[in-house]
Amino acid sequence: MNENQLRDQIVRLAKSMFERGLTFGSSGNISARVDDGWLMTPTGSTMGTLDPAKISKLDNDGAHILGDKPTKEIFLHQVMYEQRPGTGAVVHLHSTHSVAVSCLSDINKKNVLPPITAYYVMKIGTLPLIPYFPPGDLDLAKAVREMASDHHALLLANHGPVVAGKSLEDAVYAIEELEETAKLFLMLKNMNTSFLDDAQINDLKSRFPT
Ligand SMILES: [Zn+2]
Repeated sequence: MNENQLRDQIVRLAKSMFERGLTFGSSGNISARVDDGWLMTPTGSTMGTLDPAKISKLDNDGAHILGDKPTKEIFLHQVMYEQRPGTGAVVHLHSTHSVAVSCLSDINKKNVLPPITAYYVMKIGTLPLIPYFPPGDLDLAKAVREMASDHHALLLANHGPVVAGKSLEDAVYAIEELEETAKLFLMLKNMNTSFLDDAQINDLKSRFPT
């Protein structure tokens, strides 16, 4: 996929997520790797009406070279690329159900969501909670950096999920699976529930190695 096709794909997938309520206002951001740097959604932009020509472009040193100024949450993206070689795209949302789960006080902080479905296990697997820090705080970047090499999906407490993927489609589909699983988790809370057991999870890992 060339850069112009990737710009169009960012616009199309961002609009789709906006129209389905996965992002709203000017929240959420997307980045994608290109041969000579990165594309990133601009600061203050709404995912519903992105202009492909105004998408920010950064060079391989992370310097802003084209388009509008990049998102203020740029460091979340940079840390994921830095810690996870082979990452083609990163998506960060403030999606409602994931944020709701990130505010619960009685969750397992090492792995927030239980293995409810096979697709969740395959697309996310484990989801650690990163402690709360104000947006832009460098301690948030530090906390994300510490977890990113072992996890492609992270949940920021009282904030939202960040997911890295090999491609933009991979990252978007994974973060959507995460959001839907957070919704199911809240629906099932306080109900007797069967989750996948360790044998079922291991079976999935052998059938669908990543
Ligand atoms: Zn955010």
